[in-house]
Amino acid sequence: MKPHTGMYIAGQWRPATTQDTTPVVNPADEQVIAHVPAGTAEDVDAAVRAARAALPSWRATPPAERAARLAAIRDGLVARKGEIAETVAAELGAPLPFAEAVHAGVPILVAASYAELAALHPFEEKVGNSTVHCEPVGVVGAITPWNYPLHQIVAKVAPALAAGCAVVLKPAEDTPLTARLFAEVVHEAGLPAGVFNLVTGLGPVAGQALAEHEGVDLVSFTGSTAVGRRIGAIAGAAVKRVALELGGKSANVILPSADLAKAVNVGVANVMANSGQTCSAWTRMLVHTSRYDEAVALAARAAGKYGERIGPVVSEKQRDRVRGYIERGVAEGARLVAGGPEAPRERGYYVRPTVFADVTPEMTIAQEEIFGPVLSLIRYEDEDEAETIANGTVYGLAGAVWAADDAEAAAFARRLDTGQVDINGGGFNPLAPFGGYKQSGVGRELGRHGLAEYLQTKSLQF
Ligand code: NAD
Repeated sequence: MKPHTGMYIAGQWRPATTQDTTPVVNPADEQVIAHVPAGTAEDVDAAVRAARAALPSWRATPPAERAARLAAIRDGLVARKGEIAETVAAELGAPLPFAEAVHAGVPILVAASYAELAALHPFEEKVGNSTVHCEPVGVVGAITPWNYPLHQIVAKVAPALAAGCAVVLKPAEDTPLTARLFAEVVHEAGLPAGVFNLVTGLGPVAGQALAEHEGVDLVSFTGSTAVGRRIGAIAGAAVKRVALELGGKSANVILPSADLAKAVNVGVANVMANSGQTCSAWTRMLVHTSRYDEAVALAARAAGKYGERIGPVVSEKQRDRVRGYIERGVAEGARLVAGGPEAPRERGYYVRPTVFADVTPEMTIAQEEIFGPVLSLIRYEDEDEAETIANGTVYGLAGAVWAADDAEAAAFARRLDTGQVDINGGGFNPLAPFGGYKQSGVGRELGRHGLAEYLQTKSLQF
């Protein structure tokens, strides 16, 4: 077992202030694979001080030089892609091909996009008799979850660095090894000491200390709505900037003219990817009543094919939570057509790929984020009802619409209260803004909208 001591502060690995550690467990076999330091408020304070000290010269660094450091980070992610994939596979349980393609692959695209945006962004513009300067917000406290450990980190750190901010990262306690690897990549990329700092530890201790620290100008958080509310309140009380990327209960609306088999198969794959631990997953499939039974049969068959191929969920706590929702679905009268609450294996935090039919919009499984491989099929009579059901949760993060042609699907997508919609399948675009309507969050990540979160404007009138 490789020792994982210290915190990355001011450009070096420093001993933590306590001997306390948190274990890292491989969810596929329940073995402890590492221990990392459980950071305290003192560690956070040291990291924030380092970031503040590094800020003046980093913000004065020309954007082209910041872009060059981001390009070096991208190169480091490329060079260590295999190691990153193996680390995510070990601490999250993701199957290796998925870890390589998505967990290691997507952050490379995002880092590359910010290397370009940093070089191209107009940090200064003329508006009438004014010059508007886009300046970095300052020190960023980034608090990230475990579901896409590296993507969630890079989606915050890369735009923050592009903007000229300094960062203190507090990653999820379930997946700190990927974050430590990222700190090594940043170090090797030659970032000036203190511009990026890492403190591992528990959310209510290290995370909360970071959100509350008066040296932090912006808290960027991704995770549960419950913690997001708390972070929002802390930021509100201190009048500091906050960005929240929270949960979702996204609708996959299949209009009657759609290619049903394709829409259902892609929809099931979307929900089962990463064992259902995706905030933007299309967990509610809305199907017109005339094609509903056909869709149920297709979805059950598609889910059945996942069988042994699906990875575990991240922890015992998440497995029990997901199983609890499956039991709740059965108790509330939904019809199980694939999977179920029983454990599929003796070891590991596995959950069976599960599909529910006859789900009504008010059921718990149609309202709350489950964060596991569980799909609900809901029927609708006409487009107005589909719109009402799709918009009928507190969330609004993502979604999909399928129809015979893109224009028909796009017209319906305009009626959805949600931040991102895939049209007839769509596909990941690292430049498209990602973020929530309603209780799915505040602010946007990725592309130039994501960069804008880390900038504040100053206008000079002439
Ligand atoms: P969480 O919100 O507890 O954890 C997310 C991050 O916040 C972690 O780094 C954690 O250490 C930190 N944190 C926890 N309590 C904190 C506090 N009081 N102050 C500051 N930071 C704190 O999420 P979780 O318990 O890991 O997962 C629970 C549920 O959250 C999931 O089932 C899912 O519904 C949702 N979730 C959503 C996303 C997303 O991408 N939107 C990601 C992960 C989890």
